[in-house]
Order: sequence, then C-alpha cells, then structure tokens
Amino acid sequence: MTAGPRAAPTAQRRSMLVMHRVTTVSELRSELDQARAGGSSVGLVPTMGYLHEGHLSLASAAARECDVVVMTIFLNPLQFAPEEDLDSYPRDPEGDAGKAGSAGVSILFSPTASEMYPNGRDAVMTGVEVAGLSSVMEGVARRTHFGGVCTVVAKLFNIVGPCRAYFGEKDYQQLAIVRRMATDLSFPVEVVGCPIVRESDGLAMSSRNVYLTAEERSVAPVLRRALHLGAAAIRTGTTDADEVRTLMRSEIQAAALGDLDYVEVADPRTLAPLRVAGDQARLFVAVRFGRARLIDNVAVDQVEPTGPFPLLAP
Ligand code: AMP
Repeated sequence: MTAGPRAAPTAQRRSMLVMHRVTTVSELRSELDQARAGGSSVGLVPTMGYLHEGHLSLASAAARECDVVVMTIFLNPLQFAPEEDLDSYPRDPEGDAGKAGSAGVSILFSPTASEMYPNGRDAVMTGVEVAGLSSVMEGVARRTHFGGVCTVVAKLFNIVGPCRAYFGEKDYQQLAIVRRMATDLSFPVEVVGCPIVRESDGLAMSSRNVYLTAEERSVAPVLRRALHLGAAAIRTGTTDADEVRTLMRSEIQAAALGDLDYVEVADPRTLAPLRVAGDQARLFVAVRFGRARLIDNVAVDQVEPTGPFPLLAP
C-alpha cells in the first residue's frame, strides 16, 4: 500500500480505463485486492458529489500518479449537524458519472449510508478526532464536523487501501487535519494537497455555490479579494496580524452583503492564529450568503506583492 514510483499505466490500469460504478464495500474490496495483487497502485479521491472542475482536478492528479483511481461520492451524515444541508445538498449522480469517467476515474464508489454505517448513523460508537487542529476556524462554527470527516476518511482509507489520497486546498483545514490523522494513526497513505480551482472572477469553485442568488454570486468574489488584500499587505511589509485581519474584515463588510463569520491569519501547519504575520502565513475567510456558507484561503507567498489585483485565477 505504500506509494511507489509514478509509472506508466499497468495492465490493470488499462483494463480499468472504462470507469465502472460500485456501491458495496465487498465488491470494491475484491476489485482493489485484485488490482493490487497485479501490482497496481491505488489513488483515492473522496467527494460529496455534484462534481465541478475542483473535484476533477483531484481526479486528474490521481490519474497521473496512480494506476487505479477510486473516486467516492458519499454524503456523510456524520459530518452534517442537524440544522445543516444534508437533505438539500445538490445531487447529480448521472452527470457526476460522466464527468468522473472523463477525468480518469477507474471506479466510482457511491455507497448508501447504511452500507457505510451498517448499524445506523446514530449507532456509530467509534469515531476519530484530531484535537487542536479541529478546534479553530471551521471547528468553532461546525463543532461536530471534523469528527465526522475524520471518521469517514479513516473508514475510506481502510476500505480502499490507497497509497495516495487527494484533497483540495479549498478545504485547507480539512487537508491539515487529514494529514495529521494519517501521521498519528500510521495510515500507509500519502495525503496529497491540490491547489484551489477558481471561477474566472476568482470565486473558489464549490458545490454549494449553486445556493447563491444572482446578487450574492456577483458579490461573492469579495472573499478572494479580501485574502489578496491581506496577503499583499504582508508582502509589502505589514507584520501586525491584527492590522491584516482588520483590512480583510473591512473589505468584506464594505460589500454590504453576506455575514462575515471569521477572517484569520494563521500558521499553515498548526493553524494557530498569528500575532506577527510573515510570508509563511496562510489567510482564511468564511462568509455566509443566505443559504451558502463560503470559505476560502490563500498562502501569503503565493500572492505577488505589487501590481494590480488579479481578477483571473492564477
Ligand atoms: P466536497 O465534495 O466539497 O467534499 O470536496 C471533495 C474534495 O474536493 C475535497 O478534498 C475538497 O477540498 C476538494 N475541492 C472542492 N472544491 C475545490 C476547489 N475549488 N479546488 C480544489 N479542490 C476542491
């Protein structure tokens, strides 16, 4: 299960070039056992479906680096609080299958909740928590979220046995938490972070963008703009992290639409809030627009210190 060299497709990979769909754990395990026995490396891309270019960039990265790519589509009830959007989350199983196949996915695994939680979601007794990293930012707004994420990702690691698993920097805190979980629990998997894919006006792609009204959608790129302003300030010499937070907060509040949840200037590894900001910092923001709660982040050293604010994705 350890990551091997990135080689040309094996016979198993070639035989899996036509994507197939699997819904049971036993069928998935038996297919992957055969693939591994034939020497294939397995990559995992966990998603909740309603696929967009962000998800597909993860699948493409996996297809470049692994012989067999398993994409999972599972709306994990454990990671949604009762008042959240589990029931209304957008779904498009047939559209997703077409997109996943074109992006190089070999096996699309979409289990039911009872397949993943045979005793029922309310009877789950075992969970995985990553302390510390889960208690800031998204963990404050969504207290049970990361416990649900870690539990399902641990189950997927055990079911799929991937040598690499692909996660987006869009959910940077989730990526940091899953990385830490893999290290702490000795999962033999390399957790690979992939860059954020954006719309042409800078809005980070998200399945939940579909909740935005036309007016909200036109204002939503303010998240990226605020992050850029903050990063550019640090790049041009501002070191007081509170000053950077104020700058980002003012930019979002000036948009006069959307409720700011948080802005943060944090250490990219520990996610701890910084007092002194520098090029290594990562900036985070969360804003609620009606039904949609949007999050975004940027690495300060990815932002050019001078020049006009770039509207287009880098
Ligand atoms: P989700 O279906 O929202 O749970 O996302 C599944 C995976 O896709 C997660 O690892 C996300 O971080 C990643 N992802 C979602 N949106 C983007 C994006 N715009 N760019 C890159 N990765 C993304």
